[in-house]
Amino acid sequence: AAPIALDRIRKQYPDGTVAVTELSLEVEAGELMVLIGPSGCGKSTVLRMINRLIEPSGGRILLGGEDVTGADPVALRRRIGYVIQNVGLFPHQTIRTNVGTVPRLLGWSKDRIRKRSDELLELVGLDPGKFAGRYPHELSGGQRQRVGVARALAADPVVLLMDEPFSAVDPIVRTRLQEEFLRLQAEVRKTIVMVTHDLDEAVRLGDRIAVLSQGGRLEQYASPAKLLGE
Ligand code: ADP
Ligand code: ADP
Repeated sequence: AAPIALDRIRKQYPDGTVAVTELSLEVEAGELMVLIGPSGCGKSTVLRMINRLIEPSGGRILLGGEDVTGADPVALRRRIGYVIQNVGLFPHQTIRTNVGTVPRLLGWSKDRIRKRSDELLELVGLDPGKFAGRYPHELSGGQRQRVGVARALAADPVVLLMDEPFSAVDPIVRTRLQEEFLRLQAEVRKTIVMVTHDLDEAVRLGDRIAVLSQGGRLEQYASPAKLLGE
């Protein structure tokens, strides 16, 4: 079964806004799937339904073939890494403690958390000897973004969700982060859903691109080459 399958999911917010009308999609193992579309077309809503920050109004979400639509959201989030635009690091915790957030929830030992945090900082290109003991405000935007990726990968989630992960940094840093992220993904091979509104980014990073229009309607779902008509 596909690591992620959306089966006719819908979302209507309490105020009546229909953000997603009816969306079906499958993401394959190790694939980086990009959700792209204009502002307000429901991209973030789709991601937030997958990790159940919000409840779908209808349809099913399957992870590895298992219907998780009624599952405990907290347990679910341990299987799903989540990276957002402004990272949301805890300002009064060190970088190491931030990276260890989910492992701590899972009750890992201190030693194991420390080892894992350092390994991940290394993986995202931050020397743990230099950065592990720092606080978020002592890092650049690009570095904080890498910490966000490290934190999302900490408990080795099955699935990684990324909402505009590189859009809060300047264009030069963004390009570098994208390149580094591609190298990282070649190593870790996560199943990823990434939201962006940037076509260049979608084409550069995506194995497949889902183009949405208003109301979360799926217009196209294809490889970048196919989408660009090559
Ligand atoms: P995108 O990520 O593509 O910009 P969103 O998923 O954030 O789009 O929003 C989709 C639609 O749902 C928009 O019309 C937005 O205004 C609306 N929306 C988002 N969150 C809420 C909410 N909590 N309550 C009501 N409407 C919302
Ligand atoms: P990036 O290109 O990754 O965004 P910057 O050019 O913004 O990085 O930062 C350059 C260097 O300055 C980095 O090594 C970073 O660790 C360091 N730095 C930035 N802000 C601070 C700070 N407040 N305290 C200590 N070092 C900092």
